[in-house]
Amino acid sequence: MARRNGQGPKQLQDVTEKLRRGEQKLLKVLEDEGLITTREGERLLRQVTQAAAQKRASEVLTAAHTVHNKIIQVLRRSKASGDAWERTELEILYEITRLTQCCDDRSRLFGRLLDLAEQAVPFEHATLFLVDREMKELSVAASKGEVVDLIGGVKFDFGFGFSSWVAKQKKPILLTELNRGRRSVGVEVGTFLSVPLIVQGELIGVLNMSHSCTKAFGDEHLRMAILIAGQAAGVLQRFLMYEEMSRLAITDPLTGLFNRRHFQQHLEDEIHRARRYDHAFSLAMIDIDNFKQLNDAHGHALGDRILTELGRLMRKCARSSDLSARYGGDEFLVLMPETDREQAVRAGDRLRAAIADHMFPRRKKLTASVGLATFPHDATTSEGLLRKADRALLDAKRKGRDHVLVRAAREEA
Ligand code: GH3
Ligand code: MG
Repeated sequence: MARRNGQGPKQLQDVTEKLRRGEQKLLKVLEDEGLITTREGERLLRQVTQAAAQKRASEVLTAAHTVHNKIIQVLRRSKASGDAWERTELEILYEITRLTQCCDDRSRLFGRLLDLAEQAVPFEHATLFLVDREMKELSVAASKGEVVDLIGGVKFDFGFGFSSWVAKQKKPILLTELNRGRRSVGVEVGTFLSVPLIVQGELIGVLNMSHSCTKAFGDEHLRMAILIAGQAAGVLQRFLMYEEMSRLAITDPLTGLFNRRHFQQHLEDEIHRARRYDHAFSLAMIDIDNFKQLNDAHGHALGDRILTELGRLMRKCARSSDLSARYGGDEFLVLMPETDREQAVRAGDRLRAAIADHMFPRRKKLTASVGLATFPHDATTSEGLLRKADRALLDAKRKGRDHVLVRAAREEA
């Protein structure tokens, strides 16, 4: 269960540091706009620093949420939003800062951002691209009208199209005379404006805007788009950090599967759902056979790589409705909604066979044993189900390992 490769804490440190810097920047903006006093700002910053010093992702997240809620209270107090306003430049920028409130609603945040951008730059189509941090490429996060880009067939460092060129250059571009019927995926483009979204030198996305007429946007629009991009980048980065932190809080860092705590929460929810709709569901507990020997013979580093690979294999084998988690050490769980005992035996055996057939790093072969429990047949509580699955697993080990078992006898849950 110990995190031997240090991958988890490092990831947590990176995200926490970015979150801390993001919050610091936001507080500075709020102070500059006179929305909070310097004392309030200092107090909140102290709390942010305390939140970032927590040891676990879930603790950082809880503490950060507390600070976030305080910031939201301050923002609510400061001014009511009103779409009836006539937006001045400052008001638009201010409204973008207020989007900080959309802490857990991706589509609302992105949608509002594009609405506000439209008030400053009268586009027909706009697309917000964000950098996919794993792929290191831009991907479309939201659009208003059609998705718009130019030279979509040309590849740059961040993927295809003009947006990727802007991402690489980290410079905005305004093209006002694309009058020879220039089209982007069927959309007529006479004017095209693309601005990078950058926070403290780091690119987080690109915003493209277009109009079918030539010269639809001028230098004033370009200036405003740059201001908006600056403000939006801070808000977006903060949002993405929250998302990342939320993900880390429920993820096992070594395997990328859900962690035990999240699994347990999900199991309780599933029990409620199954009771309400009178459904069955099953649980598979999986434990690698003789994993200690492998660790002892080839070292923990290889053991860790094998666990990571097993996580990948389990994700590949699972149905989209299944939830796979690392329970601890070399033990895993899969929750299979709407799956009765017979279906669970088949699914368990498929997974067992997939593990036995797989070639792991350094050409190692593995087997695993699987214990099953089904709601409500075997038990009706989470503890009861886990106990039954654990006993079935033990039986599978006793039978010589590389087995899938359910305990036939119905016992008290
Ligand atoms: P069995 O077939 O009875 O399950 O035998 P086993 O050797 O797998 O025994 P058990 O499941 O009790 O032991 C789990 C071993 O998994 C102990 C430890 O060496 C190894 N292990 C647990 N967590 C980690 C980890 O994070 N990384 C690595 N490399 N090894 C781990
Ligand atoms: Mg084992």
